[in-house]
Amino acid sequence: MKHLLRVLSHSIHYKVNIGLNLLFNIFAIVFSAVSLAMVAPFLQLLFKSEMPELSKQAPHLYFSVDSIIEYFEYTFTKIIIVEGRYSALVFICVTVIVVFFLKNLFRYLAMYFLAPWRNGILRDVRNEIFAKILALPISYFTEKRKGDIITRVTSDIQEIEISIVQFLEIIFREPITILTYLGVMLYMSPQLTLFILIVLPLTGYIIGTIGKTLKKQSKMGQERLGELVTIIEETLSGLRIIKAFNVEAYRRHQFSSINHTLFSIQNKIKRRQQLSSPLSEFMGISVVAAVLWYGGGLVLNDSLGLSPEGFITYIVIFSQIISPAKAFSTAYYNIRKGMASSERIVNVLNADLQIVEKDNALTIDCFSSEINFDGVNFSYNDQAQVLKGINLKVKKGECIALVGPSGAGKTTLVDLLPRFYDVSSGNITIDGINVKDLKLTDLRDKIGFVSQQAILFNDSVYNNISFGVEGVSQAQIERAAKLANAHDFIIGLEGGYNANIGDQGSKLSGGQKQRLTIARAILKNPAILILDEATSALDTESEKLVQDALIKLMKDRTSIVIAHRLSTIQHADKIIVLKDGEIKESGTHKDLLSLGGIYNNLVSLQNIN
Ligand code: ADP
Repeated sequence: MKHLLRVLSHSIHYKVNIGLNLLFNIFAIVFSAVSLAMVAPFLQLLFKSEMPELSKQAPHLYFSVDSIIEYFEYTFTKIIIVEGRYSALVFICVTVIVVFFLKNLFRYLAMYFLAPWRNGILRDVRNEIFAKILALPISYFTEKRKGDIITRVTSDIQEIEISIVQFLEIIFREPITILTYLGVMLYMSPQLTLFILIVLPLTGYIIGTIGKTLKKQSKMGQERLGELVTIIEETLSGLRIIKAFNVEAYRRHQFSSINHTLFSIQNKIKRRQQLSSPLSEFMGISVVAAVLWYGGGLVLNDSLGLSPEGFITYIVIFSQIISPAKAFSTAYYNIRKGMASSERIVNVLNADLQIVEKDNALTIDCFSSEINFDGVNFSYNDQAQVLKGINLKVKKGECIALVGPSGAGKTTLVDLLPRFYDVSSGNITIDGINVKDLKLTDLRDKIGFVSQQAILFNDSVYNNISFGVEGVSQAQIERAAKLANAHDFIIGLEGGYNANIGDQGSKLSGGQKQRLTIARAILKNPAILILDEATSALDTESEKLVQDALIKLMKDRTSIVIAHRLSTIQHADKIIVLKDGEIKESGTHKDLLSLGGIYNNLVSLQNIN
């Protein structure tokens, strides 16, 4: 329940809507109660054989069911005497139409003001969860499946919508309805109403027991749905490989098996959920029958103090409680489902941020001296240590190359600098300031990334280059594209800089994609550059163009380059050889060759010198 309340806490912004919704609901309920309470006495007056008598003084009209009925009785009697019974009948009909019109008008108005409230909560939660996704550390998402997150943002929020509406009805509309009717009933016959009050909780208990398992089942359902979305997402992005390896049948089987589990769970949920309405109706009617039996017997013995018409009116009013009571139990069932979804959403909202900026974080305008890794140790989730006692100085303007076998910890090492992860122990400083003491935006502003896989978005060339940099001119974009050897192919695209590059840049070749990311890095103009095997996925022709662009990008910058092809880093100021998370060798190309160690071996394997 606390998770649902956490989601509903956004209601605070919709106080006016809540107030108006409540007000119009009360109006609607009062109108319907009055209209029903009026019918019996009027019919009694109308069909009585002797003429009714009119009291001398007209009663005062004030805001109570009693007074309203008394006032209408007076007016009605007057009509019977003055205008005749037929006119009185017309009067009843017209009154009923007017009262019901007003009741429904108020009901609509209540709903009208409810809409921005319920949709507003959904909008706010969606915004909150998306902001949280952006704020959460990268490590959070390596643990979670993408599809699961997507399901939480979409389907779980949809589940909550149903829950919210039901919750609001339960909180505001139905209790008022039930209490109003119970009030009228209590006024008409305390004895019968007491009887009902004893029987009703029993039915409530039965309905509640059946709804209990819904939350658990619903959570399981949403989890399976998350797995389905993950498979869809992975299939869409890996379609080429799936087709190339002929694993369509395997994927299909994987999908249909989870889909089938989901189907079974959904059946259970739906069946149980659908039970709420017939069950509560049946229970309601059973109670009506019990009241008929008990109350009818009393009326027949004339010991209830209620006329037969009065008894019928009582039963009609009581029958009006059945529908809100039914809504109550349906709402209860839906809320149980919604609770599972809100728990899933709140779990993301409450997830530990881990990488946080200090309250008094420092700002740096520019990088002026050196980056220092001082005794850095690191492990992912307290598993095996990936980096061990790394000591490394990178002076401004230097180009440092990281080489070593795959899995040595090269990517991990460079990920620590922009604080994608935090060191387990040791320190990383920029110009003597610990990166943990810096403002995150300041720190990341100083760093540019070009990775092996070009990260591009389904948008125009222009927006992919200007990514994150505000107020750039076309000329600046073109300059960056020219330096990145990208301008020529861009103007060849249909639409030029406004051309859409497709999902993850799928309309471009590998080299073109890479040159776009280089143009993006050139435009950002960072002081520190991290190149993570930027050319390893390319053919020789593209590599030449990209390499050339990279040289221009690296000019006058401090760069850390991860490279597989050692030919590209021979001129680096320092080459660091990393193996099993430790720095094994460091020095220039020449130094390391003469050392005759790991680097020398790697070089001879790649046939360069
Ligand atoms: P390299 O870039 O040198 O190939 P990485 O830095 O990618 O090496 O990986 C170093 C080690 O850390 C590997 O053993 C790898 O399995 C492990 N590793 C990388 N990323 C994660 C992660 N998100 N969670 C757990 N272990 C990881």
